[in-house]
Amino acid sequence: MHSICIANQKGGVGKTTTAIHLAVGSSWSALRVLLCDLDAQANATSGLGLEPSASSPPRAQRSWRDGLEVLSLGRHLQGTGRDVHSVLQSALPQTGFDLTIFDCPPAFGPATDAGLDLADSVIIPIQCEYFAMEGLTQILSSIQASERRLDRALYLLGILLTLYDPREAVSVEVAEEVRRNFPGAVFSSRIERDPKFIEASSFGKALYEYDLSSPGAWEYLLLTREVLKDVRKQAGTQAV
Ligand code: ADP
Ligand code: MG
Repeated sequence: MHSICIANQKGGVGKTTTAIHLAVGSSWSALRVLLCDLDAQANATSGLGLEPSASSPPRAQRSWRDGLEVLSLGRHLQGTGRDVHSVLQSALPQTGFDLTIFDCPPAFGPATDAGLDLADSVIIPIQCEYFAMEGLTQILSSIQASERRLDRALYLLGILLTLYDPREAVSVEVAEEVRRNFPGAVFSSRIERDPKFIEASSFGKALYEYDLSSPGAWEYLLLTREVLKDVRKQAGTQAV
């Protein structure tokens, strides 16, 4: 089993959208996927057409999709302070999944720390706008802090450029700057701004399920392929 944490302390950079599309895309590759929603706003849960479960202890919910379950934990983690790590650890099923994806809240704090601590690898989505580099430096420090806490390496799967608009100079400049400063660490797949994402999520669907022909759907399928290839290389073909 491999686990990926999708983290960035900024809101609106595409973490949840990435978590949903990576989860559904991986389930289409016949993997058994658990999407673990660590945000109390539960956007990953509702974005897949589910309600956050009130059951205690929290349990993973099946969606109508084969091979994909959602564990909506954000509300269960609120107010648990330092215990977030152990609450999360005990809620996670030990078997039955090939891939776990953590969707982090838009803030530094115990939930993001716990997601990083329990993951094997991390994806950092960044929106192509001013101050993206500053935000990136901060999340990289959090990753290093997690590595120090646990005395292990957390593999950076990649930085993902999201909400990219080739007609906006700032988008192009930021994308170039990030690639220049982090050579080899930026996914070749890049996600353009596509209004269909918002439409799809209002129907509780991934964009693949809403309009497979839209460019955003293809970009996330390419990203999924890129991620799974690297995960298999890192983890060994048996693990995922
Ligand atoms: P985060 O989880 O980082 O806060 P979200 O994934 O929820 O960010 O995205 C914020 C908003 O932007 C949502 O309404 C989402 O549907 C929209 N969005 C995300 N990615 C794109 C994109 N590539 N193009 C257009 N809208 C997007
Ligand atoms: Mg989110």
